[in-house]
Amino acid sequence: MAKGNINVSVENIFPLIKKFLYSDHEIFLRELISNATDATLKLKHLTNTGEAKVEYGNPMIEVKINKENKTLQIIDQGIGMTEEEVQKYINEVAFSGAEDFISKHKDAEKEGIIGHFGLGFYSAFMVADKVEIITKSYTDAPAVQWVCDGSPQFELGPSDKKDRGTEIVLHIAEDSQEFLEEYKIRELLQKYNRFMPIPIKFGTKEETLPLPEGADKDATPEKVIVDDIINNPNPAWTKAPSELKEEDYKAFYHELYPMQFDEPLFHIHLNVDYPFHLTGILFFPKLGNNLNIDKDKIQLYQNQVFVTDEVKGIVPDFLMLLRGVIDSPDIPLNVSRSYLQADGAVKKISSYITKKVADKMVSLMNDNREDYEKKWNDIKVVIEYGMISEEKFYEKSDKFALYPTVDGKYLTFEELKDKIKDNQTDKDGKLIILYASNIDEQDQYIQTAKEKGYEVLLLDSPIVPHLIQKLETTKENISFVRVDADHINNLIKKDENIASILTDEEKETLKKDLEETIDSKTYTIALENLSKDDAPFILTQPEFMRRMKDMQQTGGGM
Ligand code: ADP
Ligand code: MG
Repeated sequence: MAKGNINVSVENIFPLIKKFLYSDHEIFLRELISNATDATLKLKHLTNTGEAKVEYGNPMIEVKINKENKTLQIIDQGIGMTEEEVQKYINEVAFSGAEDFISKHKDAEKEGIIGHFGLGFYSAFMVADKVEIITKSYTDAPAVQWVCDGSPQFELGPSDKKDRGTEIVLHIAEDSQEFLEEYKIRELLQKYNRFMPIPIKFGTKEETLPLPEGADKDATPEKVIVDDIINNPNPAWTKAPSELKEEDYKAFYHELYPMQFDEPLFHIHLNVDYPFHLTGILFFPKLGNNLNIDKDKIQLYQNQVFVTDEVKGIVPDFLMLLRGVIDSPDIPLNVSRSYLQADGAVKKISSYITKKVADKMVSLMNDNREDYEKKWNDIKVVIEYGMISEEKFYEKSDKFALYPTVDGKYLTFEELKDKIKDNQTDKDGKLIILYASNIDEQDQYIQTAKEKGYEVLLLDSPIVPHLIQKLETTKENISFVRVDADHINNLIKKDENIASILTDEEKETLKKDLEETIDSKTYTIALENLSKDDAPFILTQPEFMRRMKDMQQTGGGM
């Protein structure tokens, strides 16, 4: 059989990049600003090591619209490129200068350089029919200009650019004119670049100066025009937890969600270096029994560049109920979602986060049990959801899962077992855990059970039917029984035979009457061992039947 090379020519690859590389055209801006950021971080590294003998200063990145010329410019004061570098990094598609830099400067990895694939720059052609690069290297090399109209031909020549850095000029295509609108660009900057590490200027704004000390209170404060910097280059998650106070975390929550007026219950600061890099802050919002909150609130970043807020498949489902930021350079910035979900690093990240959340629960409970109990009802759906869906989380849950009782106690499973082991078993010695799902509706049953000295849990979240099943199948010799179920009459208890207020005769007639009016397939009538004066009889349902119905109602919906 003959062997040969498949010939990939640039003529074919351009339209491919344009069409399929990124499903979202708008990410061109993120890519170009990422390159400008990389160029600046590289310069920072080289000046730090003394390799570049230039002043680093306070570089920023500027984004400018010129409606008349129909251009969008991205200007940086970074490392720039020599003519050879343009030849190498720009003209060779899919040759990543970022990876090249990191392989040459191993210790530069920690600078958080974003580029990977060597394709980001070409995303400019998704919105521009002509792109210019005007660039001057930090070295003495002369400035150059590169122009390309999206065909494989380009022009490269000298430029009179005076200052160090790179200016990318996009001649916006006819079908992409929206990218010449200020509001559109501002929206994109807000979405993708809000926490990038180098200040990004987009126009100017008016700012009112504070009155100088001792000034007349009625004096008109001075107004000045300042650069409009759209990003916060040092967001909370990039700092060490020891640098941050409780207020700082809350302030960051509101910075992240300006439209969210609630306060988070607590946060988890993620910070790991090995076996992958990951930082972030997760917040527990007040959830109550609500499973239908706005999911997709967790934002995924890579080196402070926004990647996505659709985290399904990347973080475990139960954590989608949380809010916050996850930043990892090990999450591939791009390409497609199915690729992301299959990625090994992504799986490791997901199980790391699960473990971190479990650890945090343990420490919250051990550090201040009272406070943890107070928060329980607002966080329980997350925990219960985690227990039924993530095995690793479930395995640890005995250390932090609480089981509230109808009278306001919060017990761990062990504590509960201890309390009921002498009192609540069936004739085979199986531990019977009584619970109510609705205090008002089941009040009569709860009172009866309490009078018999039984402990009754209050399990009212929508996940409970699934949680009970999970506990019953994994823990030995236990059974959950709702207070209004028939089992309650069959529990073994020492002081049986509480006298009824009814005579035997009365009981017989009452029983007959009841059997005529009540569907005996659904309910069981009990007239014995009931102490309560106003409850001479009690109707119960087989636990099994009711559960089947419950499951049908909530089933599949998880
Ligand atoms: P990547 O960022 O993944 O390396 P890109 O296609 O985005 O790939 O960019 C290719 C290369 O072009 C970069 O690695 C860098 O060497 C060079 N480059 C792009 N933009 C700039 C810029 N603003 N300043 C300096 N070099 C740049
Ligand atoms: Mg890039």
